[in-house]
Amino acid sequence: MFRVPQLTARVSRMAPLRAPMPRTFSTSPITMANGKVLLVLYEGGKHAKEQKRLLAGIENELGIRKYIESKGYELVSTTDKDPEPTSTVDKHLKDAEIVITTPFYPAYITKSRIANAPNLKLAVTAGVGSDHVDLNAANQKKITVAEVTGSNVVSVAEHVLATILVLVRNYNGGHRQAVNGEWDIAGVAKNEYDLEDKVISTVGAGRIGYRVLERLIAFNPKKLLYYDYQDLPAEAIKKLNDASKLFNGKDDIVQRVEKLEDMVSQSDVVTINAPLHEGTRGLFNKDLISHMKDGAYLVNTARGAICVAEDVADAVKSGKLRGYGGDVWDKQPAPKDHPWRSMNNKDQTGNAMTVHISGTSLDAQERYAQGVKSILESYFSKKFDYRPQDVIVKDGEYATRAYGQRK
Ligand code: NAD
Repeated sequence: MFRVPQLTARVSRMAPLRAPMPRTFSTSPITMANGKVLLVLYEGGKHAKEQKRLLAGIENELGIRKYIESKGYELVSTTDKDPEPTSTVDKHLKDAEIVITTPFYPAYITKSRIANAPNLKLAVTAGVGSDHVDLNAANQKKITVAEVTGSNVVSVAEHVLATILVLVRNYNGGHRQAVNGEWDIAGVAKNEYDLEDKVISTVGAGRIGYRVLERLIAFNPKKLLYYDYQDLPAEAIKKLNDASKLFNGKDDIVQRVEKLEDMVSQSDVVTINAPLHEGTRGLFNKDLISHMKDGAYLVNTARGAICVAEDVADAVKSGKLRGYGGDVWDKQPAPKDHPWRSMNNKDQTGNAMTVHISGTSLDAQERYAQGVKSILESYFSKKFDYRPQDVIVKDGEYATRAYGQRK
């Protein structure tokens, strides 16, 4: 009876690099009986009207408004996440019990925001990768952080393959000539290779890293290397080696490498598929890049801050790296003058960046919207029976081994 959903659009100040005006939708306060859920999503705008499956746009609110209100909770959804401490996110975090955010348009749940959120019990990531929440601060306040593990790992693995091919095949060079009315085959071919018979490696061989390796078998690589403090199960390695033997006639192509420098020094292509944490922040800096093969490619769909932006841009500019690609940036939305927007090699073919899209395909959105609802169900029911793989931190401790080696 007390459920009277009432959508009110509120227009507030314009922040840099946010094209549409920020928008906020609130439940009528009469439904506040149980508590407040704060949901932060990107603007869908006309695209949300054109595509009803765009669940992660603010207009569709992951399809969970009715569900949340049916539990007697107020839902405030907003696009207005920056700057701290004056955004709508800051205003509503003060009395929110649950915050739902997405890595694609991350509301950074910083230590100071957590300090100003005394009621906060649960932070849910709609997607995979919860580094935008200060996990140590969440632990101090015993806030549970959960994400929808696995929801977009295929989407990202496909994007990694696409990015590798764009770079190695010099797709950008050929495409630019096609649309510009040019025909200089040599100008493209001089930077164009086959992926076949190359050494390709992944930093992190979890759900995404492994799927990347699986998909690479189809390209008949020379070697597939991985670096991870967690070993791949023997049967997972056997599956890859068996497929290589069957399709390509090559034995034992998968190897674990103990030292990162040793792995990157042998690799024609390196892909990064590890979470951002204390041990990976700034990992690919000038020093590590200097160990890479001259003219290698680096692909990062994990998190932008795993690479030092200026060092990568310099390496592409100098030709040390033939190209860099990915979809993740150290700050999102990335500023207009971010070095990765303009970085390139002398032939203007070494940049395969996109905005953060790899894990937010429409198929993925359906999966993570459903996953968010399941996490909320566990919370609202007070069973707290989350899928174990979804829990990042809980009861003041890390529940996963993926965010760095801990006892
Ligand atoms: P996962 O937990 O299944 O695997 C991560 C692996 O990285 C684990 O095996 C872990 O041991 C390893 N790892 C951690 N620190 C490492 C280090 N210092 N060196 C080497 N390996 C290390 O996670 P996943 O589902 O494969 O996702 C990985 C990351 O990809 C996420 O944390 C997220 O940041 C990113 N991601 C990006 C998108 C996107 O849209 N671009 C979408 C999903 C996930």
